[in-house]
Amino acid sequence: MLPNTNAGHFRGLHSEYHVAIYERHQPEKTILYQTVARAWPKISLEYAVEGETIPRHVEAEFDRYQRCGILDYGFVRLYCKACDAERLVGFSCKGRSFCPSCGARRRDQTAERLVGDVWPVANARQWVLSFPHQVRYWLSRDTALFTDVMSAVTGVIANFYENYTLSCEERAKVYAPSAGAVSFVQLFGSSLVLNPHLHMIFLDGVYGRGSDGLRFYPHPSFTTEGMFDVLYAIHDRLSAVFRRRGYVRDDGEAGEPEHTEDISMPFRPRAPKAYRRKGRLLDHPNYQHSDPDQMSMEGWCNIRYKWLSLHAGVAIKGEDRDGLKRLFRYAARSSVAVSQLSYVTPEDPDRSDVELKLKRSWRDGTESLVFSQRAFVEKLACLVPPPWFNLTRYYGVFASAHVWREFIVPMGRRKKRLCPAHDEPPGGTPPPPTKPSTGRAPAEYWIPWPELLRRTIGVDPEICVCGAKMIVDDAITEPEKITETLARLGIESTGPPKAMRSTGELDYIYDC
Ligand SMILES: [Zn+2]
Ligand SMILES: [Zn+2]
Repeated sequence: MLPNTNAGHFRGLHSEYHVAIYERHQPEKTILYQTVARAWPKISLEYAVEGETIPRHVEAEFDRYQRCGILDYGFVRLYCKACDAERLVGFSCKGRSFCPSCGARRRDQTAERLVGDVWPVANARQWVLSFPHQVRYWLSRDTALFTDVMSAVTGVIANFYENYTLSCEERAKVYAPSAGAVSFVQLFGSSLVLNPHLHMIFLDGVYGRGSDGLRFYPHPSFTTEGMFDVLYAIHDRLSAVFRRRGYVRDDGEAGEPEHTEDISMPFRPRAPKAYRRKGRLLDHPNYQHSDPDQMSMEGWCNIRYKWLSLHAGVAIKGEDRDGLKRLFRYAARSSVAVSQLSYVTPEDPDRSDVELKLKRSWRDGTESLVFSQRAFVEKLACLVPPPWFNLTRYYGVFASAHVWREFIVPMGRRKKRLCPAHDEPPGGTPPPPTKPSTGRAPAEYWIPWPELLRRTIGVDPEICVCGAKMIVDDAITEPEKITETLARLGIESTGPPKAMRSTGELDYIYDC
């Protein structure tokens, strides 16, 4: 006889079916959740008392995160007809900033979809651009400026590929060489400081239509020196964008744009730089101070000019699908991983500071950063992206309106049988390539929750501990039913039962 209680608390491999059994990961037990639950109400109250406003989208992100995956706010009940077992799955907050569960879902979904349905068997190169401090601040408060900056930068890199991939001989024969990219905005740096920067995954070459049809032409010889002109051009294009938007005056001095009413302000922290460094700190860190006005080489495919930094050292072959997936997961990741956090004094979690382990040590020897709980949560608040700001963008041949897209992306090729290069009816004319500058994402292809978990961590949340497939029985959102079900299954409640605020939030929690 199998147990029919403690839904979601089974662990390990089922001996007969070799399917990992789903286990609810209990977000309320994580240091991140507990720290936010302690510090955010205080921060929110203090700001209210002092008459300072917290931007609405930041309030909303914290409010939703504190309900993400918490069973007291309702759940979906899975039921096994074979053995009567029940399993509860909480709802997710769909947060775009620091929620580790929703961030992991977004990251995994994006990587799976890009590698499976969007990226053809063509080489990829990651270009990372970071900005001077003043520009970071402008970008964090003005999404329209950010969009302009992204189009300018992707345009320059696309020009590089379109002009320098083909040999003179090929250029005469290949029609309309076209670049393509998927760009990701990351708002955070390793110390959780607000550092908006771009991760752009470009085709390392171009698509063009020659006598042998539409195909990929790889870039023949990528060098660090070859990037110099790209960075000069990025600098010139960005200067023009800042002038046009009123951030830089004609005399070159920083200005203030006139249209400030419709710009959503980021959260303003009270304690801007509130961490202590930990690790084997060097007495005299060996920083190289190069002249910012000169182009300087910091390493392989890593250059700096006028406080702009451009890195393009990561290249992946088109056949290496796992490598591509890792690259997309890295570019689409969220700011904090639960595994990076610990309490400095675990015996007193209420008053303990929080330690953030760096993924890679800094050059001065810093291995981890220590924050007060309040300062840590303030850092998170600064990183909430403005509403409606698109964090992933498609450019060139990947843009939804590009006429070659369906012939290039694997999903399009599966759907279409007619290719303009190979299967065109005689006498047809090739479609002219179009290139929308905003690079808006094509309609999202949502991978259902159970399938995504199966693909990424090999757990099938719909398989019961007895091996049978469970059915989704009910979505429970009323407080009385919540209390009754939790009590019946012996699951600990985190407080008085609460109703969901809106049923629009009904999506499953993603266990990562
Ligand atoms: Zn069962
Ligand atoms: Zn969430």
